[in-house]
Formats: sequence, C-alpha cells, structure tokens
Amino acid sequence: MAKVDIKDIENAQDRIKGHIIHSPLINSGQLSRKLGRDVLLKLEFLQETGSFKLRGATNAMLSLKPSEREFGVVTASSGNHGPALALAATRLGVKSTICLSNLVPKNKILNVRSNGGTTCVEGRDYDESLDVCMQLVKDKNMHLVHPFDNPSVVAGAGTIGLELAEDASDVDCILVPLSGGGLLAGIAVALKARRSKARLIGVTMENGASMVQSLKAGKPIDVQEVETIADALGGNIGLDNNWTFETVRDLVDDCVTVSDNQIKEAMRALFYNEGMMVEGAAAVGVAALMSGTVDCEGRAICLLSGRNIAAETFLDVISQNS
Ligand SMILES: *Cc1c(COP(=O)(O)O)cnc(C)c1O
Repeated sequence: MAKVDIKDIENAQDRIKGHIIHSPLINSGQLSRKLGRDVLLKLEFLQETGSFKLRGATNAMLSLKPSEREFGVVTASSGNHGPALALAATRLGVKSTICLSNLVPKNKILNVRSNGGTTCVEGRDYDESLDVCMQLVKDKNMHLVHPFDNPSVVAGAGTIGLELAEDASDVDCILVPLSGGGLLAGIAVALKARRSKARLIGVTMENGASMVQSLKAGKPIDVQEVETIADALGGNIGLDNNWTFETVRDLVDDCVTVSDNQIKEAMRALFYNEGMMVEGAAAVGVAALMSGTVDCEGRAICLLSGRNIAAETFLDVISQNS
C-alpha cells in the first residue's frame, strides 16, 4: 500500500502557502505554572474557517485535475472539514456539497454555508452522512474529498509537523487531537522525517473512540458514535481505512483518552488562563496533561485544533465549575 511520505508533505507546504497561516506556537505561562512544566500551545484554531482542516482541504483542492473539479466536490464532515472544503472550493470557483449528520451542531452547518458550500443534513451519525455522500459520488459524478482517509488531506495536515519541527526542536511530548487520524498521521510522518525526539501522543474522547478501539483490536473496527463535547472527534475510521490506521499504529508513540468532564475543565483553563475560546476537540491535549493521563514528562506542546463551538455551549461550559 502506498503511503504519504515527507516529499508529499513538503509539496503540500509549497502548494498551500498563501492560503493558510503558519500558526503561532506560544508559551502558556499560566498553564506552565499550574502544571509545573513548560506548556506550549500551537494555535491552529486561528486558521480561516476556524480549524486546521483548511490545510488538507486546500491541498486536496489544489491537487485535483480539471476533470475532477467539473461536477463539484463532495464530502461527509463532522463539522470542520466541511467549511474548510467549502472555502477551498469556493476560492477556486468549484461547487461543493457537504453531507452532515444530525449530530453536527447548527453553528457548524451555518459555517459551511457562509463559506459557499451547499449542505445536505441527513443521517443519524457520521457514517450515515458518508453513505449519503457516496451516493452523490455515484449519481452526480461529484468528486469525493474524504475528511481524513485521503493522501492529499493527510499531507496537508502533515505541514503542521513541518512547522513544529522548525519552531520547537527541543520538546519532550506533542499532544494531538485524534479522530480519523489524518492529522496525527500527517504530523507523525513529518516529525519522523525531521528526526524529532518528542514523544507523539494522540488524544481522543473516552466514548466513541474509533481509532483507539481499532488499535486495540489490531484492525479497523466500528464503534457507536455518541454525543460528546468533542463533537469534531466523532465518527469511525472506516473498515476500509487506507491512509491513517497503519501510519498511526506504526509511528505514534501512544494514544490516550479523556472524559467529557476533563475536556470541559481544560476548556475552562484555556479560557480563564489564556482568554482562548476553543471547541472541545481542541482541548483534549490540555485535558490529558491536567488529568495526568499522559505518560510523558517535560516540555509539552498541545495542538489546539479548532474553535467552532456554539456560543450557548461555550457559555454553558465556562459557567460550570466541575
Ligand atoms: C477533524 C478534527 C480533529 C481530528 O482530525 P482527524 O484527522 O480526523 O484525526 C481534531 N480537532 C478538530 C477541531 C477537528 O475538526
């Protein structure tokens, strides 16, 4: 099976330069003091559309042949790949259709539309929205840009790894939110190629953690998607997974899970200490550090992957104290 390699990621970096920002890596003095270790934050939520997903979506769009753009692109999304693909397509004058399940929060559906995408809200969970999407590929000849199991998407996400290697050669652990594994796989390939010594750790939510269960089983397996504050991490990795399972299995040092309460605690810490509003999926790394779930000491980087949370939900989280 072909694999994404460092050349693909370097090419992606050249291709998407000018469409995305090299996101800041900042030292969090407050969290560092609180946790008694250096904590750095990589602010990927500052990307346009509010998540790192613009990297993979842009790389995928710029890599398409004219014939693949002709009938428009389509995808299924847990809520952040959708607006990213919509924007990347709109910038090139290509039509996009984004399939979202009924588990996707309303603000994320609106985010697709305001970036020029057509929404199709159908299905109980991510897997059902993917079925709807595959039907559109068949019936309307639309081109599928899968949210994670696509080499251009993995390579685009991998450009974050190049930035980390450039900006922070002296860290001990890097914590990356994990769902389908495109983000983690891309970063893993880039860091390995740059000979990073940091321990690379995937973090996801306790319930419905498809990749973690699949790693345990030794092969991709399906789990039931449930409601969680980390809604962007929902959905299965796919029984026919081609591009992320093996790379995560082979190159990532550890994968851990955190509870919804631990994630909310981390969101509060980021807000009250750093003034940052991030969505649940983005706070899992900080949650893992705060709850001591992570087997790694020393300087840590947490990747803050997105900010697309509904105002009511965010208010609810920051006004609780447990
Ligand atoms: C999609 C997403 C992730 C996980 O990315 P995968 O490539 O599916 O593992 C993490 N955080 C946010 C905010 C996301 O939107």
